[in-house]
Amino acid sequence: MSDLIQIKGIGEKTIKLLNKLGINNKEDLLYYYPKDYELFSDFSNICDIHIGDVVTIKAYVITKPLIIRKNRFILTTCKVDDGTGRISCSWFNSPFILSYLKINNELILRGKVVESKNKIYLSQARIYSNEQYNKLKGKLLPIYNLTKGIQNQSIRKYVSVILKEYDSNFTKDYLPKFILKERELPKLCFALNSIHFPNEYKDLYIARNRLVYDEFFIFYLSIKYLKQIKSKIEIGIIKNLSDIFSKKVIENLPFNLTISQKNAYLDIIKDLNKNIPMNRLIQGDVGSGKTIIAFLAMFYMCSANKQSAFMCPTEVLAKQHYNNINKIIYDNKLPIKAILILGSQTKKERKINEQLIKSKEALIAIGTHALLSKEVEFNDLSLVITDEQHRFGVNQRKALENKSKEINTLVMSATPIPRTLALLLYSDLNISLIKEKPIDRIPIKNAIINESYRNNAYNFIQKEIQKKHQAYIVCPQVEPNDEELPGSFLHYENVYDYTKKLKEILPSNINIQILHGKMKSSEKEKIMQDFYNNNIDILVSTTVIEVGIDNPNATIMMIENADRFGLATLHQLRGRVGRGKNQSYAIFVNTSNSEISNKRLEVLKHSNDGFYIADHDLKLRGPGDIFGVKQSGSIEFNIADIYTDKEILYKVIDDVSKLLLNDPQLLDPKNKSIKDKLNNYLENKYVL
Ligand code: ADP
Ligand code: MG
Repeated sequence: MSDLIQIKGIGEKTIKLLNKLGINNKEDLLYYYPKDYELFSDFSNICDIHIGDVVTIKAYVITKPLIIRKNRFILTTCKVDDGTGRISCSWFNSPFILSYLKINNELILRGKVVESKNKIYLSQARIYSNEQYNKLKGKLLPIYNLTKGIQNQSIRKYVSVILKEYDSNFTKDYLPKFILKERELPKLCFALNSIHFPNEYKDLYIARNRLVYDEFFIFYLSIKYLKQIKSKIEIGIIKNLSDIFSKKVIENLPFNLTISQKNAYLDIIKDLNKNIPMNRLIQGDVGSGKTIIAFLAMFYMCSANKQSAFMCPTEVLAKQHYNNINKIIYDNKLPIKAILILGSQTKKERKINEQLIKSKEALIAIGTHALLSKEVEFNDLSLVITDEQHRFGVNQRKALENKSKEINTLVMSATPIPRTLALLLYSDLNISLIKEKPIDRIPIKNAIINESYRNNAYNFIQKEIQKKHQAYIVCPQVEPNDEELPGSFLHYENVYDYTKKLKEILPSNINIQILHGKMKSSEKEKIMQDFYNNNIDILVSTTVIEVGIDNPNATIMMIENADRFGLATLHQLRGRVGRGKNQSYAIFVNTSNSEISNKRLEVLKHSNDGFYIADHDLKLRGPGDIFGVKQSGSIEFNIADIYTDKEILYKVIDDVSKLLLNDPQLLDPKNKSIKDKLNNYLENKYVL
């Protein structure tokens, strides 16, 4: 039973909800950082407020409330005046608000200023009494990510209980004093208190620095420490390795490998013939042809009758790889069996596949993280590959590696993070860089358009379809309002309504289909198969297609509400086209008029190079952004951001290197608390 039950007010039902948020015990709750803070400021004058601000105003109701009902939604609006100006307030599905909205009532209203159809609104404002507001004024209170059924207020309460407990048990900081002093870091105890309930903004910065330092510290220490241990492991040289299968496959490929691909393949062969385990990262931009290298590595392993596992972040991608490898096996008449392991498979299917792995009849297993489950027992696993490594993080990678002692590791990633950072973060890996794209590729042409050009875009898509090419259109949402949006007036395209609209606009002979993550696995599979076979002209999808999907015949990627996505995601999405011989196009629909989203999209327009984009993403964000956009991809840090916190990362690298140089095994009694922390981290993080 979780120790959460000890907290007053938490019962089993709440525990289940907390679990949904990834909170399984008290410690998780302590480290469940706020996503933002609410500052209860003085009252603003209506004449001074700006779009995007969260403000408190004190004003009189001057109009009767207007109620609009549409489908399931009720919208209530009314106007208020504070003597400096007037503003409309709007509430979504909040009928209880009506009782406050009497003409001449004086209200304290707190909400976000949003714009819709050239009008400014105060959206979803909360209403306070004078007394209530005076109590809150000047305070910074945490705002947490929530799930349905649990309120912010409750999490605040639980966290403060735990902080009190923690304070009274806190004795010694595990980081030595000289590091705290040299790096100007506060005690962990202060940092944890202040990250949840800062007294002022300044504390927040200081606290955050410490927590970022800690995250990098333990992460980097664990990598370096494990690397030391690993470098001492000797494995027997694998017998009978040969290129009988891989050579044949290369000869029969419909293309020549690029120089970088050949080099990566040779790197792997060299590694696998050594008496220490392989630890290699293949880094290459989207579309550079990483998959075939992974296949070749597995075929190479098969020659020695050893097993390989290939883990992918999505079922759609796993299935695609599975089909492709089977085709190669069949075409080359290789005596090799590959199987697929997915979470969505029936028990019976799973059992059969698990048996094939256990008995070693199957040498190749492709799948999602379902491969990690206990039931999947390999007989002679020797090579573990993870595709789109940045989607998994180190922990899952290690979990798969734990399935065998003598393991060779290959990870593949297109993470567009600045090169120097990649080298540091993947410091336990040797890197093969795929520098060039296959020679037959023509650079993708990019366009940023606003909504008024949509019809032109549709005409263009039709022309491509006439050439028998295909298109993707990506929308941010699956259904209307399937997530809570900041400012209820903002409109984001959703897959269902969009498809309906598109079918009305385009001729009926154009086949438009839908794909999104919430669909049943078998449905997804059918749609993808139809799309590969060119039975579907336009696939309207969410970002489920972001990683790995490979249909060289698709030439258009149109992204709706492009301003809503991170640059890394946009770059990955764009990477779904330009994978064949045809000219391909990326169309970014910009629905925001903010300067910064314009600039960000311009970066994409000017370059198709992931590293260039990563560097610019960093510059545009700047270090001022305290809780940066949640990085899509890269290693999963809770609060640290490898872009904006790289100065801290460099310090950590220095400190950890010195520490391990003086005491490689961390045996010195004065390093005991660090060693304990490390052991704890390794136990908790690397075991599933
Ligand atoms: P990624 O690096 O993004 O994983 P893929 O491995 O999916 O890229 O490869 C993209 C496409 O390029 C695939 O259709 C693949 O068959 C093809 N491809 C791979 N290598 C070459 C090559 N040397 N020449 C031409 N096409 C290639
Ligand atoms: Mg790929």
